[in-house]
Amino acid sequence: MLVVATAAGWGLVIVPLPAAAAQPQCVAGLHDNGPQAGQCERMRRIARGNLHAAGRVLKGTGLDLARLHSGGQGGPFVPATRGGDDIARWERVERALKVLPLGAPLRIYAVSSRFGRRLDPINRRRAMHEGIDLVAPLRTPVQATGAGRVSFAGSRAGYGRTVEIDHGFGVRTRYAHLAATRVRTGQRVAVGQRIGLLGGSGRSTGPHLHYEILVDGRPRNPTGFIRAGQHFRVGE
Ligand SMILES: [Zn+2]
Repeated sequence: MLVVATAAGWGLVIVPLPAAAAQPQCVAGLHDNGPQAGQCERMRRIARGNLHAAGRVLKGTGLDLARLHSGGQGGPFVPATRGGDDIARWERVERALKVLPLGAPLRIYAVSSRFGRRLDPINRRRAMHEGIDLVAPLRTPVQATGAGRVSFAGSRAGYGRTVEIDHGFGVRTRYAHLAATRVRTGQRVAVGQRIGLLGGSGRSTGPHLHYEILVDGRPRNPTGFIRAGQHFRVGE
């Protein structure tokens, strides 16, 4: 599976690393003075370019690339190997790009309420809106915005029928007010997989999807993630 940047307008391209047998030795710095040093240097250059492109694309998400380099929050400490560490860094960031929620949960939608402070639509008091509201016809399929494991599927007070997905790297997504869930807690899901149907369950004024992204448990604006996703395509 490759991650392909489609941000042509930005002049950013993510180039897959050549599948070279020498790669682990390059990362370990074992070839620095050998006949394969040139090959390692080429891979490192590609890796550095990819890291730059990924950094640009992820900027709007507020995600820290260093978090991804190190395999995410609470991940194992990875010692920086001399020279080769850009290859290893890129390989970890590439893995992250394959699972982070960089897609949209509906194929076609309109945004009816943005992230941030607003007047509560039910009691008209000032409140923090911790996600975005997306409108589409009732029972439109809702899809996982990134790969991961279902950490919750069921009913939550206020949210109604809800699915939550843990993507790793401290990042979770939440899909609320569903008419029905189509996955079970503990299940692995792929990006784009149908996880439920849009509804109006819970504390809702009408059919819509309430979509949240939580980083270390704190809500982030999903719009930045959806925009970043428009610059990436995850393909075979
Ligand atoms: Zn909402």
